[in-house]
Amino acid sequence: MSATPPLPSVVKTKIKVGWFSFSCCEDSTVVFTELLNDHWQDWKQLFEFCHARVLKSHNVMTDFDIAFVEGAVASDDHIKTLKEIRQRSKKLVAIGACACQGLPSAQRNSFTPAQQQEIEFLLARFSALPKVLKLSEVVKVDEQVPGCPMDPKIFLSKVEALVKEFLPAGQVK
Ligand code: SF4
Repeated sequence: MSATPPLPSVVKTKIKVGWFSFSCCEDSTVVFTELLNDHWQDWKQLFEFCHARVLKSHNVMTDFDIAFVEGAVASDDHIKTLKEIRQRSKKLVAIGACACQGLPSAQRNSFTPAQQQEIEFLLARFSALPKVLKLSEVVKVDEQVPGCPMDPKIFLSKVEALVKEFLPAGQVK
C-alpha cells in the first residue's frame, strides 16, 4: 500500500474512532484491515477504536471524533442507527461507493415492476425500505472516500487531514 507522510506517533488524548458497515459486501473493511499491516503501529497510538467489529468483539456506542461508515441504507433500523452515529460523531466519513452514491447496493432501485414483485417477500422479511439510500440522503456527510472498494490512497489522505484537524501541535507530546 502507498506510503503517506509520517503522522505524530504519541498523543495525549487519542482520537475516538468508529467503523460501521450497513448494506454492503464489506470489502472496504477488508481494505482497511489490509492497511493496518502498514499503519497499525502508528494508528494504535493515535486512535482509540471504540467501535470496529472487524477488530474486536466488545464494541461501544460512545461519542466519536470520527465515524467511518461503509454501505448503503436499506432499512428503518439502518436509518435509526445512522442518525445515532451522526449525532454522536464530530466527523462522519462515507466509505466506498455504496455509502457515497448508493450503488452498487442500490441496484434494486432500478428494478422493473416485475422484478420488484419478485423481491417483495424479501423486502417484507427484512423490513427493507422501498428504496436503498446513500448516506447523504439520511444524514450530513463531512467527507467521502469513493471507490468500490474504497480507494486506499484517498482514505489515507483523508485520515491524515483528520488527524491534523483533531491533533493540533499542542496535543502531540
Ligand atoms: S462500494 Fe463496492 S466494495 Fe464497498 S460495499 Fe459497496 S459493493 Fe462492496
